[in-house]
Amino acid sequence: MARIAVGGFQHETNTFAMRETGLAQFIEPDAWPGLVRGLEMLEAIAGINLPAAGFVSEASALGHRVVPLLWCAAQPAGRVTREAFETISALLLARLADAGPCDAVYLDLHGAMVAEHFDDADGELLRRVRAAVGPSVPIVASLDFHANISPAMVATADALPCYRSYPHVDMAETGARAARILHRMLARPVVARAHRTLPFLMPLTSQCTLIEPLASLMPLAAKLEGEQILSLCLAPGFPLADVEDCGPTVIGCGWDAAAVDRAADEFQAAVLARESEFALDLVSIDEAIAAARVAPSKSRGPLVLADTQDNPGAGGNADTTSLLKALVGANLPGTVAGIFWDAESVARAHAAGEGATVELAIGAGSGFPGETPLFARARVLKLGDGRFVGTGPFYRGGRFELGPMARVAVGAVEILMASRKQQAADQAMFRHLGSEPAAARVLQLKSSVHFRADFGPLANRVLVVEAPGPNVADPAKLPFTKLPIGRRRRPIGR
Ligand SMILES: [Zn+2]
Repeated sequence: MARIAVGGFQHETNTFAMRETGLAQFIEPDAWPGLVRGLEMLEAIAGINLPAAGFVSEASALGHRVVPLLWCAAQPAGRVTREAFETISALLLARLADAGPCDAVYLDLHGAMVAEHFDDADGELLRRVRAAVGPSVPIVASLDFHANISPAMVATADALPCYRSYPHVDMAETGARAARILHRMLARPVVARAHRTLPFLMPLTSQCTLIEPLASLMPLAAKLEGEQILSLCLAPGFPLADVEDCGPTVIGCGWDAAAVDRAADEFQAAVLARESEFALDLVSIDEAIAAARVAPSKSRGPLVLADTQDNPGAGGNADTTSLLKALVGANLPGTVAGIFWDAESVARAHAAGEGATVELAIGAGSGFPGETPLFARARVLKLGDGRFVGTGPFYRGGRFELGPMARVAVGAVEILMASRKQQAADQAMFRHLGSEPAAARVLQLKSSVHFRADFGPLANRVLVVEAPGPNVADPAKLPFTKLPIGRRRRPIGR
């Protein structure tokens, strides 16, 4: 039995986003718990599709004793403030010191955190934890599929298992895998690591593992692991980060250096051979509206319009209105749009009450350039307190706290809003307000890919729309300054 310290500090930083990420954003809950410590942490994460939850269950089942430190995450946004990074790091290290001697450390990290003062914030955190526990205590950190993995991270942690799905339906499973990796590592320390960088950025919407090319490439990871290779992963990376380590990587670790190198080379070559298939597939707002006009009747499942560039799961604010205004202009029956972040409109709807008609200025609160609110007379259809449980494969078990919510109608278009921003990736977010997504004819979702886990099976068709927002879909359109020379900003097309 080993004593394993367990902590979590997750952030996916969009360095191009205007709004920085402060301490308050890590403290407040959303679909996931706020900042939680000690035994409270175990209770807060239990049963949720989160790596730390999967790790704790599996490590306990393997007979180890878990020592909870703290866990927190904030919505993807701009750089993490110095105050937030330093406060949470210090808290984590203080709790690690208080925990006394541990045989191992497990961390639930994202891998694409950028702080005000550290481009490689995950690497810096790992460096501090390593300094605290010394060179011989194994450190395993699970990472998001969108991790931008630096050489410092690979050099500091003993293993960095990553999610293997996007939508991330395997977050808890990755935590469980991390526990099994750590279990094997305690018996036999790893001696070899590999780290390969791919020479092009993968657009987020092309990273979906439900479609090609990753649908057939991802199974290679588990296939290449074995007797001598403990862990092998592809992290396609988070392209909205102007840091040196932005981009896809293959990482591995194990006991036979030659075998680990060979496996990493093979995986890298397999991905590179299919570069052209990662090319973007986007439609304009006009093309989306044209498709909406000919969308089949409700019984055939909705046409899903993924409003990817304003996805709050990648640094958007779920409040740009260009696509919404076009939908309101088209006024097609059965159109549903969500989930907009607009606490003020929600408050007005609550003040007016269900059934009332109210003048609203919907969206555009974050001030994204060129975006203005949708000014409209809206009928209040349904109000909610924003507290419900996630039911889809991605947000499974998440105890949502989105603050007051409202569903209103502007003409034929229904608009769902929350007081806190959250990616529209779970049908429970709609059902909470009495809206049944399967019954919609056209569904605008503020999401890039995660919606596919819960909405994909009911969709008649999915179009990814290039409407305004801070989550720029085409990395070639971003003003990078720190990318290494030679790293292509978009895959070479066919
Ligand atoms: Zn991710």
